[in-house]
Amino acid sequence: MDRYAVVGNPIAHSKSPWIHAAFARQTGQALAYEALLAPLDDFAGTVARFRAEGGRGLNVTVPFKLEAFALADRRTPRAEAAGAVNTLALGADGILGDNTDGAGLVRDLSLNLHCPLAGRRILLLGAGGATRGALLPLLDSAPARLCIANRTRHKAVELAQAFAAHAGTVRIEGCGFEALADQRFDLVINATSASLSGELPPLPPGLYAQGALAYDMMYGRGHTPFLRAALADGAARVADGLGMLVEQAAESFALWRGVRPDSAPVLAELRQLIEAG
Ligand code: NDP
Repeated sequence: MDRYAVVGNPIAHSKSPWIHAAFARQTGQALAYEALLAPLDDFAGTVARFRAEGGRGLNVTVPFKLEAFALADRRTPRAEAAGAVNTLALGADGILGDNTDGAGLVRDLSLNLHCPLAGRRILLLGAGGATRGALLPLLDSAPARLCIANRTRHKAVELAQAFAAHAGTVRIEGCGFEALADQRFDLVINATSASLSGELPPLPPGLYAQGALAYDMMYGRGHTPFLRAALADGAARVADGLGMLVEQAAESFALWRGVRPDSAPVLAELRQLIEAG
């Protein structure tokens, strides 16, 4: 049976084994998928051992996405643009690195949440790995404007400059949170890690245009502080990042197996499990 795994540190909390088992059942694919704890100083060795034992592919999570990028022999254009890899295909002819996070985000927004992106004003909060992964797929969706805002302002400015070559007609810019005063957006995506520690990026009031969606890449039971603040500030609706998690997994599954699972029922079942605690 073909073997796959998610590799990270820590890894016990990962929902990926459950998601991929559901995809495999649904599509009738015979595969095994496990959670692999890699020592912090031995990511490459962990991958090499898994590959030597016949492993066919890996999802890569915190803190190894940069090491996975360096380890890949070949990379997809979206992985090159992101500078990070969350999916490895372990082939006889070498290791292919891909980044499915941003495509997963865009699929969740457009397919599950019916949130139009073309011609819209998008605010992306944060300038870390999640933002880097999201930028190219978001730019490819042809919004009118893509603003990156970060606590450490220069990182947002540098990212906007780095991605300007991919922007086409999209107005892309980087700034600090204070520069957002008096601006309105149709979609505000929290790609900071503030929610992980129950914190809230210090945003000025009045960010949400009529009908706007607030999206937090973090997921779990109940609303994050960011989503609660967004509702209080006039966001028409809010969503967490569970759909992004399932959609990025579906992209990886399609890359490995050549079959695209129907993610909607898997997302609905996972949501129920999480809400039930
Ligand atoms: P990084 O560590 O690479 O980046 C963290 C970012 O958050 C930086 O821009 C940092 O700003 C900012 N930040 C941290 N704390 C605060 C705070 N208190 N106030 C304002 N800004 C803050 O993290 P990632 O990009 O890898 O992950 C970001 C989030 O996205 C996490 O919550 C992660 O769980 C989620 N994620 C979800 C996925 C999904 O499938 N749903 C996939 C990938 C990520 P500064 O530069 O100033 O330090």
